[in-house]
Amino acid sequence: MPLQNTIQTMKDVGSSNGEMMRRGRVEVVCGSMFSGKTEELIRRLRRAQFAKQRVEIFKPAIDVRYSEEEVVSHEGTSIPSTPVDSSASILLMGQESDVVGIDEAQFFDEHIVEVCNELAARGIRVIVAGLDLDFKGQPFGPMPQLCAIADEVTKVHAICVRCGALAYVSHRIVAGDKQVLLGEKQEYEPLCRECYKLVAPSGSPLGECPK
Ligand SMILES: [Zn+2]
Repeated sequence: MPLQNTIQTMKDVGSSNGEMMRRGRVEVVCGSMFSGKTEELIRRLRRAQFAKQRVEIFKPAIDVRYSEEEVVSHEGTSIPSTPVDSSASILLMGQESDVVGIDEAQFFDEHIVEVCNELAARGIRVIVAGLDLDFKGQPFGPMPQLCAIADEVTKVHAICVRCGALAYVSHRIVAGDKQVLLGEKQEYEPLCRECYKLVAPSGSPLGECPK
């Protein structure tokens, strides 16, 4: 094949995470706690920064577990970020970027979906990380809608702490019924469907309607 054709073919294919594509898009990285979602978000953002792209990272102001102005993964890697109260602020502050990263997206209001669509429409690559399910096994906040509008969804998995299979849900091991309880290893454990059924028979990991 002539060289020119080969180059054209490579351009058409691009990379699976969109680095070679200049058009806006929405990527979602979802999974349970301890699945490495934030690690994956940081990895994609770091590559963009290395390529001198303008990168902005946002997280909900509610999430100040480790650091007020950084996105920090469980493994301790971090990247400077801006805590915001609402998704509207992301639209306002993110429009000059090439890449917008959003962590803990499950805590944002429902307008986050329109915000991501709007940023992508303006040619921005949007990478969203969040918990797909809450501790009861129910879809969490705007995550189902974000997965639906995404160009690409990556589901990452933790390992079930009881049997070693791929985990499905973040089981809360302390009492409390609030959906939002920011936590760490003392409060949650990743479990597979089978083990979750054994420890939380009243939960609905298979997606029954909530009562
Ligand atoms: Zn298990």
